[in-house]
Amino acid sequence: MALPPNVYDAEPIPASAREEIERLLQSGDLFRYTAAENAPVSLLESEFAAMLGSKYALAVSSCSAALFLSLKALDLPRDARVLLPGFTFAAVPSSVVHADLVPVLCEVGDNYRIDLADFEARLDDNISAVIISHMRGHTSDMDAIMALCEARDIPVIEDAAHSLGTTWHGRNIGTIGHVGCFSFQSYKLINAGEGGIMVSDDANLIARAVIMSGAYEHNWKKHKAPEGDNTGALEAAFARWQNQLPLYNLRLSNLSAAIIRPQLAEVPRRVRDGRANHDYVADKLNASPWLQVPEKLAPEDRAPDSIQFNLEGLDNTQILAFQDAANARGVKVQVFGQSTDNARAFWNWQFVPEKQELPKTRAMLMSACDVRLPARLKRDELDLIADALTSAAEDVMGAVKAYGT
Ligand SMILES: *Cc1c(COP(=O)(O)O)cnc(C)c1O
Repeated sequence: MALPPNVYDAEPIPASAREEIERLLQSGDLFRYTAAENAPVSLLESEFAAMLGSKYALAVSSCSAALFLSLKALDLPRDARVLLPGFTFAAVPSSVVHADLVPVLCEVGDNYRIDLADFEARLDDNISAVIISHMRGHTSDMDAIMALCEARDIPVIEDAAHSLGTTWHGRNIGTIGHVGCFSFQSYKLINAGEGGIMVSDDANLIARAVIMSGAYEHNWKKHKAPEGDNTGALEAAFARWQNQLPLYNLRLSNLSAAIIRPQLAEVPRRVRDGRANHDYVADKLNASPWLQVPEKLAPEDRAPDSIQFNLEGLDNTQILAFQDAANARGVKVQVFGQSTDNARAFWNWQFVPEKQELPKTRAMLMSACDVRLPARLKRDELDLIADALTSAAEDVMGAVKAYGT
């Protein structure tokens, strides 16, 4: 029998990155602010902003750093409250704590998207900013979220770490809120090992973030407004904040930019293949009475590199048995809430000062399964994964349903 594929291996880095890395190694020019102009990090910023349709981009050491700087750039008072979904990665509430702010969690439904009634109710609980985590690339209703936040003048940060290539009404995720943050960590669509970037149209916000990211003295002069923008807004903002802000030194290295830049051209293919793979496997899983892949929202076009599904009608013992059965068939399933120390289970974020219980989110996490599905997989590999999952459900539940009396 053919073995299920290794879903953890990354794609090779495009060969064109090597030449640039060799040039950087020869010259030793690794720091983004050494070259007078056109350093690889600067080029990445202008290319990424153009790709997304944003005015400004700032490349930094991780998406978590981008989230932290976004919060600092909003200039909120200490202990201001930041609303975020109860289903996200632990680094997200951590960025809030790091910025001396207080994370407030809202419920997430069994379609992995923000529960809007709960979101709206909590928005009026003295909230100063919102982070929308598009967890595993699942987009919450951004029309409703932006309307609710704009009515209250609350800024929205999009945690689009895992959403590069996803669109909402045709518009890139990460460009809908006031600032959008992306990750280049190895499990995301673009892999540089580590790295992140933030995009915004707000010159004041980006100038503050640039300085705090470590553009000390007059290094901010190497951050240019987009071509054709002669408003002087960015320069004016830099002049306003010069020497006013702490330096957190969260810069990206030229080597990382050299690894990222050639992958930008790969994004459309990875999005197309990832979506086709996801939808192919989703159809197979949905044919099982015990597995259910939630529908996306209508305005969303996804860019998945993994699949999430709920176990229907399984009790906790059967959920664990399903996980074991899938494992025995060679497919590793993470059930977010079932492992100890899972970084996506809110009850493990014990550093959050205000403890909250989120019954809906908890129920979802106890049965929501996560399987990696990288864009490079081929049909026969997808068949092996889908068949292993449906058969694992059959192993556990088949006797109950088919042969039960
Ligand atoms: C990966 C991820 C992060 C963290 O990104 P880093 O670049 O590793 O800091 C934050 N939020 C979400 C939704 C993620 O998937």
